[in-house]
Amino acid sequence: MKYVFGPVPSRRLGQSLGIDTIPLKTCNWNCVYCQLGRTRPLINQRKDYYPVQDILVEVQQALDSHQPGEIDWVTFVGSGEPLLHASMGVLIRGVKRLTPLPVAVITNGSLLYLPEVREDLILADAVLPSLDAGKATLYRKINRPHREVTYQRLVDGMVAFRKVYQGRLWVEVMLVRGLNDTPQALHEIAKVLERIQPDAVHINLPTRPPVESWVESSTPEGLMQALAVLGNIAEVVHPAEGSFDLSGYEDPVDAVLAIITRHPMRQEELEHTISHWTPGKVRQVLADLNASGRAQIVERLGMRFWSASPSHYPDKTQSMRTKPEAKDH
Ligand code: SF4
Repeated sequence: MKYVFGPVPSRRLGQSLGIDTIPLKTCNWNCVYCQLGRTRPLINQRKDYYPVQDILVEVQQALDSHQPGEIDWVTFVGSGEPLLHASMGVLIRGVKRLTPLPVAVITNGSLLYLPEVREDLILADAVLPSLDAGKATLYRKINRPHREVTYQRLVDGMVAFRKVYQGRLWVEVMLVRGLNDTPQALHEIAKVLERIQPDAVHINLPTRPPVESWVESSTPEGLMQALAVLGNIAEVVHPAEGSFDLSGYEDPVDAVLAIITRHPMRQEELEHTISHWTPGKVRQVLADLNASGRAQIVERLGMRFWSASPSHYPDKTQSMRTKPEAKDH
């Protein structure tokens, strides 16, 4: 399987069958907390990165190989910003023809200012865009966007989408210590959320390796503060527990690569979540991938994670050069 993975346990979507519409890492943001490494270069061109028909054939195969109840959601998510695929509307309609399961799209939301993108998403059952900042300067520090996707466009796009969208709009806020978990930053975000009127606000913490080594999760106090300020539709989304379904893979090497390309993980976590093979087999696969240069170990948050090799994580010295000064935000 090249485009479809899982189902994987999702924090918000139960057992989620993932559809990856773009190559690693195609994105118009370069978030300081991104778990997929740096975006090099920033890409803001919408096009058919993969053929629609090939993606839908894989979705059909994945659906055929699962029993009712094994998949809760079909989710467009993956190796960057999924809405950069120009045929997202065709893909969503295609999936809806194949299954009655609800369809979600996890996006950074930066392209919602385009009428054609809002139109593409209209049939999705849930759309989960990001809002990590309540003003443009902090947006540029956290999300480091392509120059065409401005803060004004991000907010205007979400407001315009909410006006026409009947499905569930769940806005995700990734809380980064010292950047957007201060009372002032949270009040600014809350003000913008009032304009957007989402159905829920999901507060997230970086639990996978953030690309920049200085990024830290918010503190328990920061979290409490966020819950208090962002209102009663806000909830903290804890990491999901559960196994990754790898029945679509015959080769354990492909299976492990499919996971760590999209979800870098600690070794114990991989051994625990890949129940399809023994921990010994998983360890051996990781050692082989490391030796052949297809996987790398990344140290972040005081832990060691496995990631696919094309993902670019700067070393500590390079990374520290990108750390904003506290007085700047
Ligand atoms: S976190 Fe998402 S939006 Fe941000 S750089 Fe990574 S893939 Fe792009």
